[in-house]
Amino acid sequence: MAKTMAVNVGSSSLKFQLLEMPAERVIANGVIERIGMDDAIVTIKYGEQRSAEQLAVHSEDNAHVTHTKNGKKYENILAIKDHQQAINFVLQQLTTLDIIQDFNEITGVGHRVVAGGEWFNHSVVVTDSVLEKIDRLSDYAPLHNPANAMGIRAFQKLLPNALSVAVFDTSFHQTMPKENYLYSLPYQYYTRYGARKYGAHGISHHYVSQRAAVMMNRNLSELKLITLHMGAGVSITAIEDGKSIDTSMGFSPLSGVTMATRSGDVDPSLVYYIQEHEGLSNDDMVNILNKKSGLLGISTISSDMRDLLDVQDTNDHAQLAVKIFVNRIVKYIGQYIAEMGGVDAIIFTAGIGENSIPVRQMIIERLSYFGIELDVEANNVRGQEVEISTAASRVKALLIPTNEELMIAREVESLK
Ligand code: ADP
Repeated sequence: MAKTMAVNVGSSSLKFQLLEMPAERVIANGVIERIGMDDAIVTIKYGEQRSAEQLAVHSEDNAHVTHTKNGKKYENILAIKDHQQAINFVLQQLTTLDIIQDFNEITGVGHRVVAGGEWFNHSVVVTDSVLEKIDRLSDYAPLHNPANAMGIRAFQKLLPNALSVAVFDTSFHQTMPKENYLYSLPYQYYTRYGARKYGAHGISHHYVSQRAAVMMNRNLSELKLITLHMGAGVSITAIEDGKSIDTSMGFSPLSGVTMATRSGDVDPSLVYYIQEHEGLSNDDMVNILNKKSGLLGISTISSDMRDLLDVQDTNDHAQLAVKIFVNRIVKYIGQYIAEMGGVDAIIFTAGIGENSIPVRQMIIERLSYFGIELDVEANNVRGQEVEISTAASRVKALLIPTNEELMIAREVESLK
């Protein structure tokens, strides 16, 4: 059966999942971190379920394979100088580990691309002109688009016969009406520079909205949904008729709610005020807003929600960070309910959404005024697709693990 690779290339990392399509069976997944370093870390998980746990079967230099109850795990630490070498290594390893016999088995490669601007409102087969546009959109996502383009070129070199598809994180939000995507700035900045809201996490919001309709046994076209993607990056989307009509992230992923290290919405004049008083360059300030703010900035101890929840009873800063996080989300939900004139379901996904029982509880309890009621017992789970509101609840609360890789593989399949 044909195999499709779903790829997510970051500035120093490469994540992939290999799926048998159209059966949608995951054959392997993996990650290379610290690309460009002498001690890059490679992890590949593959194989069928095994009963023996942690049984080492092969070990050589830094490389080793262990059997776990979920299959096999290959791990290695080695020097990887760039993305091309990372991709060469992964493909080579897929054959060495007998996951594939021949590169030609991989008939499609879908790449997550962060910024698609107004040019891409759906996934496309990569051509020279598509690649050129992805390059030109690097202004909008300077850390991501160049890496995405590099990944596409590197895979094309090694798998020239595979269909190469770009799946954009912004496409799903291209349905937003102008009154929602435009900032209240002089109009010429929009026409000159495309200064507007593009949103992000579109692949995830799209996936969980489709799953929600299946779980609710309703047509997407008749539903009003609010999807909460709460990972290290957090974004909230209002979805009507299966289409994104508003989202909390903006021109870049910096705006909206409080995130792990990103500030979310801030009065722009405050940014200049702080810069002036602290003598910070533009780059320094952008770095503070992206990397030193959010949960980390407020709590001063950690960007990880788990750490904050662990100490919030004894640490005022941690408690405040959690409160602000929940509060900002509740406010956006209120806005979107007003905007859509109601809501049928609220969906929780990504790291915090899938795993944090108390955060889901805190959010839902603040929303009881419009008839949503938490089923405390049903909510006591992690990472499963499940309804977490009571049967009597007028508005449903759903926990839906996201699956961006599957969505990417489906997009490749639809363009074959
Ligand atoms: P990314 O945006 O990098 O893809 P993830 O979706 O993997 O991030 O989410 C990572 C975040 O999920 C971590 O920063 C952590 O705060 C949060 N997280 C993971 N597990 C838990 C948990 N059990 N409780 C609370 N937060 C969790």
